[in-house]
Amino acid sequence: MASALTVAAGCGQSVSSEKAAEAAPTAGTETGATKTAAAHTHDGWWCSEHGVPEEVCGQCNSKLAADFQKKGDWCQQHDRPDSQCFACHPELEAKFAAQHEAKLGTKPPKPTM
Ligand SMILES: [Zn+2]
Ligand SMILES: [Zn+2]
Repeated sequence: MASALTVAAGCGQSVSSEKAAEAAPTAGTETGATKTAAAHTHDGWWCSEHGVPEEVCGQCNSKLAADFQKKGDWCQQHDRPDSQCFACHPELEAKFAAQHEAKLGTKPPKPTM
């Protein structure tokens, strides 16, 4: 009885240590890659100044601003797209914030405008 237990324990130990050695490098690489990609996306994607994605920010991109003005989507009073004017439409801020939360899992910083 005693000798059988010793053999079983020794066998189990060697298997588990081999598994750990195999799993460790793979897990480390995956975590590093995900972290780097997320950091890059965060920087370029969101305009923290205006509280909207950069690709639709009519205050940072004059080409987009012209498009918004052509569509009649422009707030003269605040000099920004009406669909991005949180002063006139406070509910829009939460709508854009939800996009940030859906993509990055965090609330965006408060817009500074
Ligand atoms: Zn902007
Ligand atoms: Zn406005």
